[in-house]
Amino acid sequence: MNPIAIVVGIAAVAALAHQPEKKPELKAPPAVKPGPSHGAAPSDAVMLFDGKSFDKWTKRDGSPMGWKPGPGKSGDDMVVVAGAGDIVSKETFGDAQIHVEFMTPVEKGDGQDRGNSGVYIHGRYEVQVLDSYKSETYPDGQCGAIYGQHVPLVNACRPQGEWQTYDIIFRAPKFDAAGKKTVNANITVIHNGVLIQDHAEAKSPTGSAMAQDEKATGPLMLQEHGHAVVYRNVWVRKI
Ligand code: MG
Repeated sequence: MNPIAIVVGIAAVAALAHQPEKKPELKAPPAVKPGPSHGAAPSDAVMLFDGKSFDKWTKRDGSPMGWKPGPGKSGDDMVVVAGAGDIVSKETFGDAQIHVEFMTPVEKGDGQDRGNSGVYIHGRYEVQVLDSYKSETYPDGQCGAIYGQHVPLVNACRPQGEWQTYDIIFRAPKFDAAGKKTVNANITVIHNGVLIQDHAEAKSPTGSAMAQDEKATGPLMLQEHGHAVVYRNVWVRKI
């Protein structure tokens, strides 16, 4: 084998093994101001969280989830409890339309240490939740990024303490009869009514995924990253 090819190959493997951090070639996307919010569940949606109960979720290990009712006046929200771990839906799905509402807390901090959580489709592909309103981090780790893989097209974030929406169209990976993946997972994300990911292909599970083996179906996972991010009105429509 050509020694240059070997060196290039070793460098590629080393790059893959390295978690995404600063990539100087990536530029932060422009900011846009989103319109008013929306998002009531349609009749065929599977409601995963409407504030009435927590029984559609567990911890990663299947034990009862440790998040708490949130600070909202209407009693329809839940807040991430630091140290309580991620929560995973009991419901699983393949292709799906997913709606999630979230609010990053009013807090100091910067970069990744500010309103960090995440919506993990199939527990594997993270649509990053972060306070990226007038706050910078590496672009493929900011709010709305497919973490470490795709920068959002624009920054459609609202400020801390305001409700935001994700509407996600997800196409599950496909496999041949031998179980070999033939088509990557495909993710479209509308953030506060603004298209921010347009058929983004997830080449692999993203960092801190619940598993590295990709599947035709999986749960929704919401990430505990030590920040008191609030969630409400979480539903899925199976496609
Ligand atoms: Mg996160």
